[in-house]
Amino acid sequence: MGAGLAGGRAAVELRAQGFTGSIVLLGAEEHPPYDRPPLSKGVLSGRLEETTLPLDLGGVEVRLGQRATGLRPGTVETDAGPLAYDGLVLATGAAPVTLPGDGPQRVLRTIDDARGLRDALKPGVRLVVVGAGWIGAEVATIAAKIGAEVTVIEAAASPLQVALGGEVGGQTVPWYAEAGVDLRLGVSVREIGPQALVLGDGEVLAADEVVVGVGVRPDTAWLAESGLVLDRGVVADEHLAASWSADGPPVVVVGDCAAWWSRRYDRRLRVEHWDCAQGSPAVAAATLLGGEAVYDPVPYFWSEQFGRMVQVVGLAGAGDTRVWRGDPGAVTAPEARRAPGWSVGWFAPDGRLSAIATVNRPMDAVAARRLIAADAVVDAERFTDLAIPLKDL
Ligand code: FAD
Repeated sequence: MGAGLAGGRAAVELRAQGFTGSIVLLGAEEHPPYDRPPLSKGVLSGRLEETTLPLDLGGVEVRLGQRATGLRPGTVETDAGPLAYDGLVLATGAAPVTLPGDGPQRVLRTIDDARGLRDALKPGVRLVVVGAGWIGAEVATIAAKIGAEVTVIEAAASPLQVALGGEVGGQTVPWYAEAGVDLRLGVSVREIGPQALVLGDGEVLAADEVVVGVGVRPDTAWLAESGLVLDRGVVADEHLAASWSADGPPVVVVGDCAAWWSRRYDRRLRVEHWDCAQGSPAVAAATLLGGEAVYDPVPYFWSEQFGRMVQVVGLAGAGDTRVWRGDPGAVTAPEARRAPGWSVGWFAPDGRLSAIATVNRPMDAVAARRLIAADAVVDAERFTDLAIPLKDL
């Protein structure tokens, strides 16, 4: 259920792993599986029109424009009638959170959203983006380039506060000004009215277009009565198997809607990143076919904003120490492509590198992913030296 990256990859994996029975891939959108990261980059800028994924879905019955509406053991209810199954992959992804108010607000989740916003973005258009997270920053980047008058409203004291913490997220503040974007921090939005937003202090901010990028929620409301265990996503074990409160045929879960047990972190994770939608289906398919594979990745995410490539690997722990690598204040702007960039690492009390964020340093991200996956203890002093490749630490 769900014909995005994770659902499409699950169908391909089932075939690749030898499943010869019938596969139905059911998707609420009218589009075959497509890639979402380019929506806020190439599609929004007009450089790309299509992002259809090159998946071999021959031998898969793809039903588009059909929505699953309910589930009971052995049967999915859909708006086109019931569908019986012997095994089920849940891949319904996540849906954007919207804000109160009866004014028009855009979100950016689907290719139709992206094309609609692209058509609305013109030089001089007053665009207000709510949320200085990943999506907000990427939308602001493209809109400013097009010549829109862009304001970004963020309730937290820095951009990317939830993902990276205030001090690291705060390093991105100058990027907004440099792009001509008015970033307003510590400002909440009360509601969205016609052609204006009402802010927390009552100020009315005029806008021709409003894009809300304040996060997503797993698209699992249709499973509420199913008897599957849900808790901010579909709860699954380390093999990505979901559990019924009663008996039922096997169900696995992949991508943005999966809340699976991570052996590595000894807790449940839900990771709304491309890498998870790409990697989890192989394990889920194996599980559905009776295997014992374990899904246990080091989380990875990238974002392209204000001419920088930002990459984040791993998960920082509460007691970790932050160590800078390079100077975050140094020039990393597009015109300084040969500038060294910078990274910041989070070190566990026992000296292991637990997470890294990198700006224009893709080789740091690659090396750190290996180090984190290997639970490597890294010399924090040497880590600070940009002249020493991370792979040599
Ligand atoms: P989705 O891609 O959401 O697919 C789920 C599909 O299921 C949807 O088509 C939906 O319509 C369908 N569906 C939902 N409910 C039902 C139902 N009841 N019945 C039938 N079908 C249903 N990640 C990165 O790592 N880096 C990036 O730079 C990045 N950029 C992004 C930019 C944008 C604009 C967006 C939206 C996401 C971005 N991501 C990025 C996140 C990444 O794209 C997602 O993690 C990934 O798409 C998740 O894939 P999925 O298949 O789990 O879910």
